[in-house]
This record gives sequence, C-alpha cells and structure tokens, in this order.
Amino acid sequence: MLEDKTPQRTSLSQLGEFGLIDHLTKNFDVKQPSTLKSIGDDAAVLDFKDKKVVVSTDLLIEGVHFDLSYMPLRHLGYKAVVVNVSDICAMNAKPTQITVSVAVSNRFPLEALEELFDGIALAAKFYNVDVIGGDTTSSQKGLIISITAIGEANEVDIVYRDGANNGDLLVVTGDLGSAYMGLQVLEREKQVFQVNPNNQPDLDAYTYLIERQLKPEARHDIKDLLEKLEVKPTSMIDISDGLSSEIIHICKQSKVGCNLYEEKIPVDPQFINVCEEFNIDSTTVAINGGEDYELLFTIALEDFDKIKANPNFTVIGHLTQESEGIHLVTRANTKIPLKARGWDALSEE
Ligand SMILES: [Mg+2]
Repeated sequence: MLEDKTPQRTSLSQLGEFGLIDHLTKNFDVKQPSTLKSIGDDAAVLDFKDKKVVVSTDLLIEGVHFDLSYMPLRHLGYKAVVVNVSDICAMNAKPTQITVSVAVSNRFPLEALEELFDGIALAAKFYNVDVIGGDTTSSQKGLIISITAIGEANEVDIVYRDGANNGDLLVVTGDLGSAYMGLQVLEREKQVFQVNPNNQPDLDAYTYLIERQLKPEARHDIKDLLEKLEVKPTSMIDISDGLSSEIIHICKQSKVGCNLYEEKIPVDPQFINVCEEFNIDSTTVAINGGEDYELLFTIALEDFDKIKANPNFTVIGHLTQESEGIHLVTRANTKIPLKARGWDALSEE
C-alpha cells in the first residue's frame, strides 16, 4: 500500500556517523530562550532560571510500536515527537526541548532517515521545541527511536497524578477511540494489499481515524486554555494506553474511586460507523483503545461552571471514596468494574 518509491538510495556508510548527524540536523534552529547551547558540543546547556524542569523519555521499536508497511517514516518521526510532548503537557508544563536518538539497520538508506527527520523537524517546529542533541547508531535489525522531551513550568502550575479528591469531576479533552480504529483499518488494508497488491484502497470513509493513528497531536493548547478559564486541575495524565488504564492510574495514586459514565464518553461519528462495520463494541474501544493523546484530568466541583460551555472538554464522571471502587456506569445503569486492559489486551480478543 505504501511501498517505498524513493528512487535514490544513498548508503549510510558513505557519510559516516558525524557526517550523518551534521546532515540530519542542519535544519534545526534554536528558538527557546532556555537553550544556551544546542547540538555541536559534548552536551547541550539549558537555563530555566526560576522555572522547574520536567523530563520524559520514550522508546519506539519497529515491529513492537510501529509497522513501516503502513506508517510512512515522516509520520513516524512526527508521532515520535508528539507522544513525548504529550507527556510534558500532561504535567501542565510547556515543552521546550527534545533529544532524538535513532538506531537503524543497513536496510535504511540516507533518504529514509531524511524522511524520518523531516517529520521530527515538522513536529519540533509545530510544538516550538528545540532539538538539542541525540545519537545515531546502527542496529542489527530494524529501526529504534528514543526521544527525550524537556519542559518548563512554574512549580505551582505543575499537575501530578496524585492530587484528585473525592467529589472532583473527571474531564477529558477531544474524543476517544479513533486512533485505535484507524489502526484496525490500516491493518485490514495491509492484509488486503498482501493478497492483491494491485488493489487500490478507498480510504475516504476513514480519513479522520487514519489521521488520528498516523498523525496524532499533543494537547499543548490545554495549559493556556485552563489558565485563561482560571482552572487548575487537581490531577492530570495523557491518554496513551487507554482511558480505563489512565483512570486507574489517577485513582490508585490519588487514593480515590471513580464512576465513569458510558453515555458521556466523547466519540466521533466516523468512529461509531467504523465500529459497526468491524462489529466491535464502541465503548470497549473508547475506554481501552489508547494512542489518542488527549488529556484526562480532574477538577474541583466548584470549577464546573468555568469549563462546562467549552467544546474542548467533556465531563465523563466523578470521583468517589476509594472504598467505592472504580466503575463504568453503563447506559443501562449497571456498574462494571474498570480494568486496565490497554490496547494490547484489546487486540488479543
Ligand atoms: Mg503519559
């Protein structure tokens, strides 16, 4: 489906490691005032003055976290940055720098790495983060990407997972489940392609879902929005593994229980249609799907009026005493204990 049509194949060994780094990083310019020294010395130098620094790191491995048969390298580079920036946003901090390390086998020519770094550069520009360092090396097999993201925040603004209280409201940004169904569509098309390579897929009915899977965005807009509304969440997390497992993280760490209401979970109409087409229960996907990179947070009940009219936010539940447990309240008003299954478990069904 997405075969490599790159005509030119320049072997990486032609450049050598330092030539390669110079080549791949030549377009990265410095925008953040906190970046004193970027790429080019033994280490980068950062100065955050009186701000606190938040750091998060992530490892992506070919065949485990991504499949290059339907994931274009440019999208992969973009997404690798997004998943890390999302973790900084989940601390209610502002992303400022990233480092990028890549290991590749010799089946990748220079042109493939250029695609990957084009995606990384695009995301760095969009999220206004400086690429301040990294490493490239060879791997025996496949592609490995590790990105570390750095961000800044005033100490009082940082939001942890353990601050939620009994009676707080549970709020989510955007909509859920679409990234997972986008993956299902891509997996199906891959199988169709393997059987008949001449088959031209018609993906018009799935554009939103595929975009959510291949080009997700981190909610870097939420920090400023909440500040404007004068709301500070009591706890926050980003939705990478799936709503239910993120709710359980917040509840366990905050020592509270939760009622999540099935009828409140925000989903896209295209998502509903495709769940029907695949004969999959939409609620199961919406709560276990993962990779949506929306933010899940809790607010004090008295802040409800400040967010209720905002289309970015949906109140999906409320927190209870820890002893009441963590439940999904279905449309039929039955209570089912939430389990942290994540999308790996879902795919085994
Ligand atoms: Mg996270």
